[in-house]
Amino acid sequence: MAPLLPLDRHGRPLGVLRLSLTARCNLACPYCLPDGVEPPGLLNRAQRLAVVRAAVALGVRSLRLTGGEPLLHSGLEELISGAAPLRQSAASGAAGLAEIALTSNGSLLTAARARSLREAGLDRITLSLDGATGASVAAMAGLPGGTTAGDDLLAKVLAAIDHAREAGFDPGKGALKLNAVIARGRNDDQLLPLADLARQRRVELRLIEYMDVGNRNGWKPDQVISAAEMLDRIATSWPLEPIGRPGHGTANRWRYRDGAGQLAVVASITAPFCGDCNRLRLTADGVAYTCLFAADGVDLKPWLQPSLDPEGLDRAMRNLWRQRRDRYSEERSMAAAAGSAAKNIRAHAEMAYLGG
Ligand code: SAM
Ligand code: SF4
Repeated sequence: MAPLLPLDRHGRPLGVLRLSLTARCNLACPYCLPDGVEPPGLLNRAQRLAVVRAAVALGVRSLRLTGGEPLLHSGLEELISGAAPLRQSAASGAAGLAEIALTSNGSLLTAARARSLREAGLDRITLSLDGATGASVAAMAGLPGGTTAGDDLLAKVLAAIDHAREAGFDPGKGALKLNAVIARGRNDDQLLPLADLARQRRVELRLIEYMDVGNRNGWKPDQVISAAEMLDRIATSWPLEPIGRPGHGTANRWRYRDGAGQLAVVASITAPFCGDCNRLRLTADGVAYTCLFAADGVDLKPWLQPSLDPEGLDRAMRNLWRQRRDRYSEERSMAAAAGSAAKNIRAHAEMAYLGG
């Protein structure tokens, strides 16, 4: 009989594996601030697939590829097609991966790349775009070239939306979405323009509360615009009705009453969803993190090199998940409610390293 799927210390199952394929990025969003260099000891494809295989055996059904900027990773398509044997098999009924998804800034998503990702077996793409004008895009992406560079990036991301749709990523089926981080005083004037842009393209926009990930972005609580405020501001122009948050999901979803699609908010600061969080993260150099806000992870390389040790890897990941007790966002909220410092309950690993 197959061993039982592990639950963590709060009774949460494992369901999602987020693989950061590179810590590098071609942008320098000030809320993320990637390193610019890879950590030493990057995993190779066989090692990454070994971790995915072990994670699937422990309950993972959704694989999300991220970074840094995952389109900088030259072996992306090979990794996706290499994960195909781990898919759920309708014929045998064997549990396996139900989806493979990608989060990207979209700047490198040409028509050919969108097609090759689709052909490799990618199911869903989420593209990040934090503004609807060149000036706001430049500021949010940390582009030195100002408005002209921002116009150029905006044009590339808008083209990427078209390329993805044409390659078969259907936004109507949830296969193409937009992420936007909104920070007060930086790009909150872009809320309505971004919603308008997404409505016109019938793509779901996911508005993300600015989070205190990493130690370099200078995050302050007053820079956060709550999901409730974002929704209020958008509903003034386009009334909304709630759909809800799917179990284990990060986003609360809403429907435009005029039929122009859906909107989602990720309220990790003001309405934490630690209670049913089922996500495990693996960095490009093979360190597993059980929380986006964790300070430390567990290095899985001892079971990946010099040779693969699938049984040891399975045991290490099973133990890691069983010992998991993270609920940082909830603890932050409780600390804030009690009047203690909301930030720096402990230091965090950086977002581009963890993969968001
Ligand atoms: N480079 C890709 C991208 O930007 O989509 C993938 C990696 S990025 C770290 C993944 C997601 O995390 C992006 O949607 C990004 O906007 C979001 N993100 C990064 N830093 C954040 C922060 N401090 N608060 C909220 N979201 C953040
Ligand atoms: Fe790069 Fe994504 Fe971080 Fe922006 S959010 S710097 S695009 S990794």
